[in-house]
Amino acid sequence: MAPSRLPVANAIQPFWRSELHPLDNHRSTPALPSQVDIVVIGAGYAGASVAYHIQNLCRDQGIALPSMAILEAREACSGATGRNGGHLKPDPYNRPASLALSHGVELAAECARFEAATLRAVKAVIDAERIDCDFVLTRAVDALMGDAIHARIAAGAGLLRDAGVDVMQDVHYEPDAARAEQLSGVKGAKACLTYSAGHLWPYKLILALLQKAVDAGANLQTHTPVVGVAATADAEGYYAVTTRDRGVVRARQVVYATNAYTAAVLPELAGRIVPVRGICSRIVVPHDRKPAPVLPHSYIVRWSPSEYEYMIPRTDGSIIVGGARSKYYADLDSWYDNVDDDKLITAGDAHRHFDGYMQNNFRGWEHSGAYTESVWTGIMGYSADSCPFIGPLPSRPNQYVVAGFTGHGMPQIFLSAKGIAQMAVTGASFHETGIPRIYQVTEERLASKQNTIIEGWASHESAKSKL
Ligand SMILES: Cc1cc2nc3c(=O)[nH]c(=O)nc-3n(C[C@H](O)[C@H](O)[C@H](O)COP(=O)(O)OP(=O)(O)OC[C@H]3O[C@@H](n4cnc5c(N)ncnc54)[C@H](O)[C@@H]3O)c2cc1C
Repeated sequence: MAPSRLPVANAIQPFWRSELHPLDNHRSTPALPSQVDIVVIGAGYAGASVAYHIQNLCRDQGIALPSMAILEAREACSGATGRNGGHLKPDPYNRPASLALSHGVELAAECARFEAATLRAVKAVIDAERIDCDFVLTRAVDALMGDAIHARIAAGAGLLRDAGVDVMQDVHYEPDAARAEQLSGVKGAKACLTYSAGHLWPYKLILALLQKAVDAGANLQTHTPVVGVAATADAEGYYAVTTRDRGVVRARQVVYATNAYTAAVLPELAGRIVPVRGICSRIVVPHDRKPAPVLPHSYIVRWSPSEYEYMIPRTDGSIIVGGARSKYYADLDSWYDNVDDDKLITAGDAHRHFDGYMQNNFRGWEHSGAYTESVWTGIMGYSADSCPFIGPLPSRPNQYVVAGFTGHGMPQIFLSAKGIAQMAVTGASFHETGIPRIYQVTEERLASKQNTIIEGWASHESAKSKL
């Protein structure tokens, strides 16, 4: 495996970073604080949420606010969160069905419930804090485009339903092809399922949370890559957090909200969280055309277990579509262990995948004139055992990780971050936080050699070669 790397310079500008917040390049103080109670590494969804929850929790429980520094390698929210699909889509049955087979139904249900609860919690914070981030509560439509993927998803959903998993009550299954095409609007859908979801402008949510944290006293330092953290505390209980070119911050507690890049500063996670590159686009419709059909839902268009597009309609009439794996998945180096979000994925012409996407796949969009306005890449943190790594590090007291969301962080991170805040501030145990048990960082998970990312890829490639 190639050495893990830090975020690269000159990342492609995604649509979400077209309206920059004053904190984008912020440094609360000209020099780094020499010593704080807590250092949070990373100012994406996870880092901003941890900072927000720590301060909220302290306020609610009358605990003195800890001093906190948030150290971010590039601009605020310039990682995966600022480059994603904006789809906050709890998964009631796809991953839970796999988890039910590998870990049992009870643990799978725990994960599915946690995601549904995260959607509710994100909506609640947006409402309570009046955050303007284009949030829409909707139904996700999962359009299944072939008989094999239909059979697989139907079997998984059936298993969970038969076992009485409660989140399945929110799922509607349409097995008839004609009705599925009518309901989804996706041409050639063989079946579809719908369930509650949300979509939003992720950068605006995260910058609003960061603003709250900074207003409450957090010291935000952008363009400050961390290159190492001491594995052991000094005699006074402080860890040395070393930045690339701005010196050292001493901290009693350290939170790694570094997702794809975690192994660069935490060797224990090498090979356990792998940077995986994805690609996303914005499609717009010319104003002088007859309006195209309204898209009332958010969408997944699923071709196989590993090939799908995710898509949200925006209230400005544009559409965000990501995916394109069918084009580049075979070319391992173009996505696996790859941190190059300064370049498009050109393997298989993936960067052109979104041209004509609406015309080809959605009913009534044939003459819409929809065109790809922009394409960008982003780096996800894929967990080698497919579960996020959350909680205290077994061999590093007072150091926590919240990372490895495997391209699916939107419906998991906000409550994961709340759990980290509870553990760091009130000393709650992992199990008291409600975070799914199988997400806990354990010695066993860190030592495992399992790599479900490569296993999934190899089985996809071998199935293809047999066709
Ligand atoms: C193209 C794409 C589409 C996606 N679409 C969706 C979607 O629609 N729905 C969904 O649920 N999920 C989606 N995801 C995944 C989702 O974006 C992530 O799960 C989530 O944003 C992760 O948030 P995070 O805060 O953990 O990571 P990030 O947003 O990547 O934040 C980590 C931050 O840490 C900083 N950092 C890292 N290392 C260091 C260091 N050593 N020193 C200082 N700073 C450091 C990085 O610069 C970065 O800003 C998508 C991801 C991509 C790339």
